[in-house]
Amino acid sequence: VSIAHPLSAADAARDLAGLRVQFAAAEEAADLQPLGLGGVLLGAGVVDRVAPLVAELRRDHGDVALVADRRPMAAAGGELKAGVAAALRAAGIGVRLVTLGDERVDIHADAATLREAAEACAGASLVLSVGSGTIVDIGKALSARLDGLPHVAVQTAASVNGFADDQSVLLVDGVKRTTTTRWADRLLIDSDVIARAPVELNRAGLGDLLATYTAPADWLLARLVGQDDSYSPSAVDLARSHVDSVLDGADGIHRADPEAIENLTAALTLSGIAMGVAGRTAPGSGMEHNVSHLLEMAERPGTPRPLHGAKVGALSVLSAMLWARVRAVARGGGLHALRFPDAEDMEPCVRAAFATLDPSGKMGEECWREYARKLERWNAASDRLTTLWQRWPAFDAELDGLLASPERLVAALRAARAPVRLTQLGVRDATARWALAHGHLMRDRFTVADLAFFMGIWDAPDVDALLIGAARHGGGL
Ligand SMILES: [Zn+2]
Repeated sequence: VSIAHPLSAADAARDLAGLRVQFAAAEEAADLQPLGLGGVLLGAGVVDRVAPLVAELRRDHGDVALVADRRPMAAAGGELKAGVAAALRAAGIGVRLVTLGDERVDIHADAATLREAAEACAGASLVLSVGSGTIVDIGKALSARLDGLPHVAVQTAASVNGFADDQSVLLVDGVKRTTTTRWADRLLIDSDVIARAPVELNRAGLGDLLATYTAPADWLLARLVGQDDSYSPSAVDLARSHVDSVLDGADGIHRADPEAIENLTAALTLSGIAMGVAGRTAPGSGMEHNVSHLLEMAERPGTPRPLHGAKVGALSVLSAMLWARVRAVARGGGLHALRFPDAEDMEPCVRAAFATLDPSGKMGEECWREYARKLERWNAASDRLTTLWQRWPAFDAELDGLLASPERLVAALRAARAPVRLTQLGVRDATARWALAHGHLMRDRFTVADLAFFMGIWDAPDVDALLIGAARHGGGL
């Protein structure tokens, strides 16, 4: 099934009924999750509609829990959260403020934060999350935990693609894990508010979106090597449908040009919907996200944390470069001598990789539990994998439609004045090398880094060589 894209990104993101029709017509329709997002309001001034919307959706006449962090947010009429609370009260709706995180706006979606937030929301008639990625992730998790408490999300920056799905990134024993939570009943994206957000947040959204040029190739690879059969062409098609135009207009993100901002926001929404319908983050999350999660795990409390999308953007360039390297080596016969290490070989490596971060061993335990499953599948498929080289040329031809060149990704980041090098984000050399070399040891998901490792071309000297190559494009460290 080929899906045409006559609509603008914003029109497509608002038309959930149209998207449901498209997904129902997909060949893999039976394997997709229903698109459970209740509605998308996207455009200038939509935040003015929050009070009637909340009045319509809330469970009873009790208070509404407004969940937010301490960051002041600019809107046309003043501070956004104060304006939203005032509009609700003026409509006769009681508001309970649930403020999360510390003065530095440092929030972790960990078990303690969720428990406290759930207690603070108990008995509320609706949860209204107002913020960027983590706050809305917490809103989705609260709504799930509180028996489907209605949830309206007011997105305040185009910082990530995770607003429009039913998944939240939560911290489990210090490790970031994507967890199924609940779709929002409404997603409000006021493009005036987004344009007033700090520009680095919107630049980070561009960075997160660059993974759309690398992650789908990882997902297709996972199918090729017998790790995961869930690849959905229609989810990938939707996630990628408007990304080219965002890259072409990337300089408009820097200038807060209304059209560029709306286009970016809508493309992120479509990417989020694709992840929700796929039932997994794979349409927008691959190797670059694994490595980014390791960088996050290595961040020290009290030091400034680079934005998720900023890291993903810089890492997508490296992922595109590793894909180019793997394809070149595979064409030269590199699939004829794949490695099949056993659990006894790998378990000490995985545990050692995380031992310096967490001497208690809990983090290593959590990562090994996930990695062991991937390794077991790899070894179980060894008979078929020894003939992988025969199936590679057809797969390689498909990759042309999924990957972008590192140069194109660097050019888009530069046009938006977004960071291209990891050290610009405050990531130290040694940390970056560690995260690149060990990202594949963190979870169950198979990516190009796993294949490179099993081909014997992803050890420490290979990481260094890739970084040297990246420096020639202006990226890397
Ligand atoms: Zn992301």
